[in-house]
Amino acid sequence: MKILSVNAGSSSLKFQLLQMPEEIEISSGLVERIGNKNAEFTLKFNGNKQVLKDLVVLDHSVAVDLVIKGLLQNKVIQSLDEIDGVGHRVVQGGELFKDSVVIDDDVVIKIASLNDLAPLHNPANIIGINAFRKALPNVIQVAVFDTTFHQTMPKENFLYGVPYEWYEKHGVRKYGFHGTSHQYVSQLAHQRLNKENTKIIVAHIGNGASLTAVLNGKSIDTSMGLTPLEGFPMGTRSGNVDPAIFQLMQQKEGYSLEKTLNELNKSSGYLGISGISHDSRDIVQAAEAGNERAQLAIDIQAKRIADYIASYYVLLGGLDALVFTAGIGENAKEVREAVCKRVEVLGIKIDAELNNSRGDKEISRKDSLVKVWVIPTNEEVMIARDVIRLQKHN
Ligand code: AMP
Repeated sequence: MKILSVNAGSSSLKFQLLQMPEEIEISSGLVERIGNKNAEFTLKFNGNKQVLKDLVVLDHSVAVDLVIKGLLQNKVIQSLDEIDGVGHRVVQGGELFKDSVVIDDDVVIKIASLNDLAPLHNPANIIGINAFRKALPNVIQVAVFDTTFHQTMPKENFLYGVPYEWYEKHGVRKYGFHGTSHQYVSQLAHQRLNKENTKIIVAHIGNGASLTAVLNGKSIDTSMGLTPLEGFPMGTRSGNVDPAIFQLMQQKEGYSLEKTLNELNKSSGYLGISGISHDSRDIVQAAEAGNERAQLAIDIQAKRIADYIASYYVLLGGLDALVFTAGIGENAKEVREAVCKRVEVLGIKIDAELNNSRGDKEISRKDSLVKVWVIPTNEEVMIARDVIRLQKHN
């Protein structure tokens, strides 16, 4: 059975074609700079990589056509009938979606009703859904939300200390994101712990980053909030700040609300603190070469992550495993080390040599009271699994 996992952004379309239930990648690819005349299409299949440049891709339907033609022309599939289902990543499911869902017209309307909560993401996700529904009208399409895994959070953890009517009237609350990743990784950690009741913290640290406290397989708290801006500093996002910053920046620099919000989303975090780059590789390299602000970017992020770990340790009533995942969590040993040395007091101890090696591995020392693992995430597989689960009930 072949399932397509799709992640549509405002100007990009990422996909992976998976052989299920074996969970083997058949092909993957990316269309970048949609809406431009210099779009790029990358397709990987059978160990080959094809890159087409300077394409005119004015919208997502053209991008979907490119993907489908690419798969057919390169004989990755012989016909469209081979695609048994499509799973779409949707960022915001609000309180409307407690689980993944088979897409119909009503579901699309409901997702669109959440656009105000995720203006940077949901509209793009819907464009991707519509384009694939048009191209593959007879194939089951499933929406998998970043937020559903966190719908198990109790009220005292997801509500803010603001007027209650804001929640009732406008849905102002913490939703959390990266749910498919937190779920995938925590399920693996749960299995490895090999006991019924488990206390796990997942540190998904990529360009966007969040921490989740997982009790017996369920998310009970997470660092991202109403939007992915909340939490600790990321590649370009600030994480938590005092909201009074908005007024000060208006007075001092004449910044509009939108301008400050944009700066907090796009010019902060690693990039803003270091003044060098949003990419952890550049930051680590600069810090090693003695750049103080690059080192500060790593230290500020690590300090804030340690704050969350300590807080979730208390919330969970202890900790069995801390798991690092995503681009930085999986690859940047310096970031893992900077975090772990700040939480040693909790009995979390990593081995420098194990931390230095690559891949799926345990990096904790024998005398650590908590297992520390690096587990590569796989959101595409999680999405494909949900397509199959819902296909069975459809
Ligand atoms: P993601 O958002 O999960 O794709 O992660 C993107 C981040 O992962 C970027 O900051 C990259 O610098 C970082 N990253 C990816 N590969 C490596 C690597 N080999 N070493 C260090 N950081 C990496």
